Amino acid sequence: TTNAKKEDKGKNIQVVVRCRPLSLFERRSNSYSVVECDTARKEVSVKASAHLGEKSNRKTYTYDMVFGPLAKQIEVYKSVVCPILDEVIMGYNCTVFAYGQTGTGKTFTMEGDRSSDGNFTWEQGAVMVKGLEEITVHNKDEVYAILESGAAKRRTAFTLMNAYSSRSHSVFSVTIHMKETTLDGEELVKVGKLNLVDLAGSENIGRSGAVDKRAREAGNINQSLLTLGRVITALVERTPHVPYRESKLTRLLQDSLGGRTKTSIIATISPAAINAEETLSTLDYAFRAK
Ligand code: ADP
Ligand code: MG
Repeated sequence: TTNAKKEDKGKNIQVVVRCRPLSLFERRSNSYSVVECDTARKEVSVKASAHLGEKSNRKTYTYDMVFGPLAKQIEVYKSVVCPILDEVIMGYNCTVFAYGQTGTGKTFTMEGDRSSDGNFTWEQGAVMVKGLEEITVHNKDEVYAILESGAAKRRTAFTLMNAYSSRSHSVFSVTIHMKETTLDGEELVKVGKLNLVDLAGSENIGRSGAVDKRAREAGNINQSLLTLGRVITALVERTPHVPYRESKLTRLLQDSLGGRTKTSIIATISPAAINAEETLSTLDYAFRAK
C-alpha cells in the first residue's frame, strides 16, 4: 500500500532542513529574517516578497526534521549523524549530504561538534593525504571510536576545502569491514560505509533545480547536483531506471545510494530576505527528495 511505501521510504531517505542565524553581513545590510522554523511541526515557512509573484504570502514546507537558527551542532549531530553511524555498524552504506546555497552553513554543519573534538589534534602544516588508512579493531566500541576519529579528520578536510567549495563537492568516506564469528564457528563478514558529502553551492543550478531547462542548457554548471536530484527523485519514486552514470558524483556514490542504503540530506538555508529566492529553490529541491 502507499502508506507502507511511504514508511519504508522514510526510513531510507531522510531530508532535514537547517536554517542558520542572520549573519553580520546580512544584519549590516539591513536584511531581516523571512524564514520561520517550527521544529515540533517539522515545518519551514518563507515569507515570499511581492516581486517573486507568489500568490500566497507564505510558503510552507514539511520535512523529516527542521532545525532553526538556535539549534546547536551537537543537536544536529545527535539526531542526524549518530543514527547513521548505527546503520554503518550494522553493515549499511550510508551517506549524509549537505545541500544549499554558498554561505548557508554546509561546511559548518558537516564539521560536526568541535567541542567534542578534544582528543583529536592535527600536526601543524600537514598535508591532507588522499588515501587509505587501515585500522584493526576488536569490538563495536572501537568501531565507534574509528568513526568518531574519522569524523574528526573530516573537519580538517572540510575546513581546508571550504574556501574552494562553492564550485566543487567534497566527499569524505570511511569503510569498515567487520568479521563476526557465530557460536557454531561460522565467520560472517559485514561491510559498512559512511560518506559525508559537502556539496557545491546550490546557487549553481538555479531556481527549480532538476527540472529547470534553462539551468540545464546553461551548460553543465553543475551536472552532479542536477543528476543527484534526479537520482534521489528516481529512488523516492522507485522508477526502474536510476541515472547514476550521468555524473561523476553519483557514479562515485552509486553503492551508497538506493537499495540497502541510508541517505540523509541536510538542506541549509539563510533566513535573510535578500536570499529568499535561493532559499525557496533549496527548499523545493529538498522537498522533491523527500
Ligand atoms: P557553506 O559551506 O554553505 O558555504 P559555511 O559553513 O562556510 O557555509 O558557513 C558560512 C558562515 O556562516 C561561516 O562563517 C559559518 O561559521 C557561519 N554559520 C553557518 N551556519 C551557522 C550556524 N548554524 N550557526 C552559526 N553560524 C553559522
Ligand atoms: Mg562550504
